[in-house]
Amino acid sequence: MAAPIRLRSTLALVTGGGSGIGRAICQRLSQEGASVAVVDLNLDSAKETLQSLSRGIPGQDHVALTADVSRADHVRALMEQIQSYFSSPPRVAVNNAGITKDDFLLRLSEKNFESVLNVNLKGPFLITQAVAQSIVASGKNGGSIINMGSIVGKVGNLGQANYAASKSGVEGLTKTAAKELAKFDIRCNTVLPGFIATPMTDKVPQKVMDKIVSLVPMGRLGQPEDIADVCAFLASDDSRYITGASIEVTGGLYL
Ligand code: NAD
Repeated sequence: MAAPIRLRSTLALVTGGGSGIGRAICQRLSQEGASVAVVDLNLDSAKETLQSLSRGIPGQDHVALTADVSRADHVRALMEQIQSYFSSPPRVAVNNAGITKDDFLLRLSEKNFESVLNVNLKGPFLITQAVAQSIVASGKNGGSIINMGSIVGKVGNLGQANYAASKSGVEGLTKTAAKELAKFDIRCNTVLPGFIATPMTDKVPQKVMDKIVSLVPMGRLGQPEDIADVCAFLASDDSRYITGASIEVTGGLYL
């Protein structure tokens, strides 16, 4: 079935757009008519995503950009590039870039704790702040910020103290941003994926994945498109009265 066209004349910024869930989000938002700024640390993979985007709506344009979302100087430069390319701020931002550096708590290094927090939590803070500032400065209210959490942030997971902490933090950040930014008509929501088949989960040993799938009531891993569809809904006006929410997309999994 053809995707609805709910994001005509909308500029969307998607971080981590070069792989997995982020790529599927860029594709889905473009099918809905959005222009997309595909942002990734890896410019080549962002460019690959760019090649796959829909361009069927008049005025639709896309760009691939590189930035490390954990660095304020990169985020500042990114926003300047987007402003000069599109002459308007993004109205939709999907903070999807994320990393894992798994280890059991007893062995987890300070470096691996900090790097996961920096990308997964500080990144969404920097982008949310910069996008909201640019919307407010434009004098025209309205926007939707979508942050990628994880079901692991709610329930914890063996070997992921750093990751679970970062994803719980994303929910707190998002709920607070939702309260502060509502007066500018900027909605902020968190998506909590369960286990989705992407390069990130490819790293998990097959034995562990088999066990996880056996715990999913719907009996399968999620696909990146399962998450992208929810992001398109949250980006669109169909979710106009939803803010500060955390939406689980897990096939029923609650570890
Ligand atoms: P992925 O590894 O396939 O893609 C992540 C992308 O983020 C990569 O393209 C990578 O280059 C980019 N990235 C990493 N660090 C970056 C940085 N500092 N700045 C900019 N870009 C950076 O992962 P995925 O599985 O598609 O995950 C996407 C998001 O979904 C992540 O936030 C992840 O935590 C979350 N998530 C994934 C799952 C899952 O099962 N795959 C489950 C829950 C939540």
